[in-house]
Amino acid sequence: MFQKGTNLTDIITFNSVNKTYPLAKTRALSDYSITIEKGEFFCLVGPSGCGKSTVLKLIAGLETPSSGKIIAPENIGMVFQLGALFPWLTVEENTAFGLKMKGTDKTKIRELTNKYLDLVNLREFHKKYPRDLSGGQRQRVGIARALAIEPEVLLLDEPFSALDFLTTDELHKDLLNIWQETKKTIVMVSHLMEEAVLLADRVGIMRDGKLCKVIQVSLPRPRSYKKEDFVNEVQKIKNIIGE
Ligand code: ADP
Repeated sequence: MFQKGTNLTDIITFNSVNKTYPLAKTRALSDYSITIEKGEFFCLVGPSGCGKSTVLKLIAGLETPSSGKIIAPENIGMVFQLGALFPWLTVEENTAFGLKMKGTDKTKIRELTNKYLDLVNLREFHKKYPRDLSGGQRQRVGIARALAIEPEVLLLDEPFSALDFLTTDELHKDLLNIWQETKKTIVMVSHLMEEAVLLADRVGIMRDGKLCKVIQVSLPRPRSYKKEDFVNEVQKIKNIIGE
């Protein structure tokens, strides 16, 4: 649907959004405006409590704004820390969960479940339970489950924060491949500037419920932590945050 004042390449728009949770003394978001383009990898960074997860919940429709306007697609996939899998369901059943909820027919569920378990390299684990998987594998199932509903936007809330460095490194590469293959719009929350610069096209820097600055990361991919221009870009963001 065409909205006046909205660029056709924009997929998410917040216009002067305020959010105050019931019983909370302060606003979680204050006069918050942001535009995210179709197909881009956008990363939100900022200190704990600055409102990053609130932005994701508002995009997903899990929370409503206290005032202001939000335009976002209805079909949104969300990946949580550690996959947030149902322990009593197999890998296959976890992946199919959103599709079942939507009433998708069995053949289509099998097709999509296989497709996305292939994409995250876990097809052979389809009969296993979350307890049989490593942390990285669980998070891959979380990603497959979010993608299985074929969402227009994929939201990730600090998805790798509980994983060790090597696993995270592997999942960063996988996520970039998935992004390039599926051409999804990705909005990810991170508390690590290095992770944001490694992955994102643009980084939104938040503080106290506000978006202070948006930085375009123009470094070519694949990016490397060790290169001087990478380190400079990270430092630029740290200077703005005040670290
Ligand atoms: P971040 O993701 O940057 O850590 P959040 O969006 O989780 O920040 O939280 C922003 C602010 O809103 C914090 O002060 C937090 O305590 C508050 N908050 C978040 N969720 C709720 C809630 N359900 N009820 C009340 N306050 C909340």
